[in-house]
This record gives sequence, C-alpha cells and structure tokens, in this order.
Amino acid sequence: MNLELFITTNEVPIRLGFFFGIFALMALWEVLSPRRELVTSKPVRWVNNIGLVFFNSFLLRLIFPAAAVGMALFAQEQGWGLFNYYQVPFWLVVLVSVAAMDFFIYMQHIMVHAVPALWRLHRVHHADRDFDVTTGARFHPLEIILSMLIKFAVIMLLGAPVVAVVIFEVILNATSMFNHGNVRIPGAVDAVLRLFIVTPDMHRVHHSIEDDETNSNFGFNLPWWDRLFGTYRAQPRAGHEAMTIGIRTFQTDKWCSWLPGMLAIPFVGRVRDYAINRREWGGANEQ
Ligand SMILES: [Zn+2]
Ligand SMILES: [Zn+2]
Repeated sequence: MNLELFITTNEVPIRLGFFFGIFALMALWEVLSPRRELVTSKPVRWVNNIGLVFFNSFLLRLIFPAAAVGMALFAQEQGWGLFNYYQVPFWLVVLVSVAAMDFFIYMQHIMVHAVPALWRLHRVHHADRDFDVTTGARFHPLEIILSMLIKFAVIMLLGAPVVAVVIFEVILNATSMFNHGNVRIPGAVDAVLRLFIVTPDMHRVHHSIEDDETNSNFGFNLPWWDRLFGTYRAQPRAGHEAMTIGIRTFQTDKWCSWLPGMLAIPFVGRVRDYAINRREWGGANEQ
C-alpha cells in the first residue's frame, strides 16, 4: 500500500494517535523535568484549556464537516491551484505544500498581532499565565474559524494534495504541543534543534509580557521564517525562569484560566482606547 492511500484511509487514527501520543509524552516530560514553576493552578488551567480544545473541535466539525481535507479534495476535482497546472514530482509537491502552509501560518500569526480586532481574538492564546502543552491548543473559537478559512484559501491557491494537508495538520498539532512544553532541554541540544524546528525556549519568548519580546518568534514549525524576516529573538531578557508570561492587563484567573473569561476576552475593552504601540488596552485587572 503506498503512502498516499495509507494516509487517506487511516486519517482519523493517525491524527488521534499522534495527538494523544505526543500529548501524553509532553505531559510526562513536564512532570519529570519542568522548565519553570507554574504560577497558577494546573488542574484549573488544564480542565479549562482542554475544555476549550474539545469545544473548538466540536464547533469545527459542525461548521466545516469536511474540513481542510475536503477543501483539498474539492480543489483537486476542480483543477484549482498552482500544483494542478504543473507537472511536479509528488514528493516535491508535498514538501513544498507543507513548507508553504507553514509560511502562511507564520504570516497569519503576524497579522493577528498587528491588526487590533484580530489581536483581541489572539489575546486568548497569550493570556495564559503559564506556558505548557495545553497552551499550544488554546485558541478562541473565532480565531480557529478564521484560521480554517485562511487555510482553505491557501489550499485552493496551492492545489495542495490531501496527503500534504493531513501531514501538515498532524505536524502542526505535534509541534505546537512540543514548542509550548514546559520542559527543560539542555542549551546545547536546544541550539541545534532550533536550527530545524521551533523549540519551547524559542517560542516561550513569544509569550513574554514584554511587547518587544511578544513581537518576535512568530513561527510554529519551521524557525527559518523568523530568521529570514527579522523577527527572531534568541532568549528573553529576564531569562526563562524569571520572565513573566502573559498579557499585562489580563492577570487574574477569572480571565486567564476559566473558560467563560477566556471566551469573553475578545469583547473586553473599548476599541477607541486602542493606539499604536499600546496594544494592551482595555484590560480587565480592575474588574
Ligand atoms: Zn502570538
Ligand atoms: Zn504560542
């Protein structure tokens, strides 16, 4: 059986296997060798973060039952997209599709930081006051829907094959859990790893409370986009143990750890309070 057939016929077990397998590995690693002490209750965060993940999965199934794979099949049937116009070896199509989708995710990530209305949604990911494997999947449902629509557009544009879409989603899921891990990796190992993949120490910088540190390391899988476009920052100024994680104006469990608060975060604060270079307007500390 070739790879394409194997992946398309076993898509669900492959996805779930990788998800639960890597989640369990990371969770165990975090217990055995944590990088930082947690500042909030782990049971509360985990129940709420994982609750949000289940809610998002349910919502996505409801709105887009065929999901990204359905879009890839549709684009293929219609002959849409770059790769449907050119004769390119299949392995190269898969490789380029996966790298290109990663690049668009990087650009999308910069966009949700730069556009005030979208930053409101993305704040939910950043408001987590700790940084661990559950942070990696914690996104507001509206941001999840936005991501899916952007992914549809990219798949249409590229004519990305189904296999590439499944491989990309499995990789993104796995690396997101890995690079949000509260795990200790020796400096020398991290230095080599981050030449090829975004490591936890690299992405943790992006979750800093400091504006300039948040506006760096936007990559999710490949670390090259940050280096190429000048958004790379090696380490947080305060060091990984002493740095503060989160958003300055959302620092209470009500907003940062409990599901109702998380879901409400995009709607907190007045739009007119926003000014360039002052993106942490309309916080909820005083409420
Ligand atoms: Zn971000
Ligand atoms: Zn993150």
